Amino acid sequence: MKKRFGQHFLTDRSILRRIVEFAHIPPEDTVLEIGPGSGALTRELARAARHVIAIEIDGDLIPSLRAAMPGNVEIVEGDALEMEWPPGAFHVLGNLPYNVATPLLKRFIEHRARIPDVTVMVQKEVAERMMAEPSTHEYGPFSVLVQYYANVNYGFTVYPGAFKPRPKVDSAVIRLEWRPDVPSAPRFTDFVQQAFASRRKKLANNLLSMFPSLGREEMLRRIISTGVSASARPEELSVAEFLRVYNQFR
Ligand code: SAM
Repeated sequence: MKKRFGQHFLTDRSILRRIVEFAHIPPEDTVLEIGPGSGALTRELARAARHVIAIEIDGDLIPSLRAAMPGNVEIVEGDALEMEWPPGAFHVLGNLPYNVATPLLKRFIEHRARIPDVTVMVQKEVAERMMAEPSTHEYGPFSVLVQYYANVNYGFTVYPGAFKPRPKVDSAVIRLEWRPDVPSAPRFTDFVQQAFASRRKKLANNLLSMFPSLGREEMLRRIISTGVSASARPEELSVAEFLRVYNQFR
């Protein structure tokens, strides 16, 4: 197993089945699987979907995957963070490599027009950040970004004993469904990231580092005009409040 690729393979068949059931894939559709590994989840998926495209970065696994998979599975060697997605629409599914789960999820959000939904296993801690409420330790820029674009459904928790080798932490299966009619906000992700630049600072101070020429008075005036307190800290703002503040500066 290669640690640098986050290789923890699922060995419990009932969990593999539960993940595929939870994904609710229409049988006529195409699924993009991230990181098939030894192909255990891929095999279950191949029974549920018309076509499976599985992207694996580890070249050593490719020959055995290609030899073992049924005819409706296409194995592609590549880095899911960088490669061009296949054409058309596809559901995303995978037991994500933990070291790249967050950037991968951001990439799915960016390409959501072609992805009806995303069902993935991630570290439980990442799932908790995605679902976090304001004013909690877990709430941060990633929570705001995910919740702006998606409803996050928590499926179930998976414990280390279900994998080989055992990871150190619990995992969770979650499903992202895009919220309808989300207004386009091109620089929202960068804006929220900067607004959280220092969690200990007030929102106004973080934003002043972003827009130094505005001056403190104008900054406070703009924040208050959105209904947010001038002394608020970034983690106290709801997603809707972040959007209102962003619209003041876009
Ligand atoms: N799907 C298998 C399972 O559930 O047992 C393996 C899951 S394992 C957690 C993650 C897999 O993703 C590994 O096979 C790893 O080599 C692959 N991987 C890691 N980084 C990747 C990347 N950037 N693009 C594509 N695959 C990647």
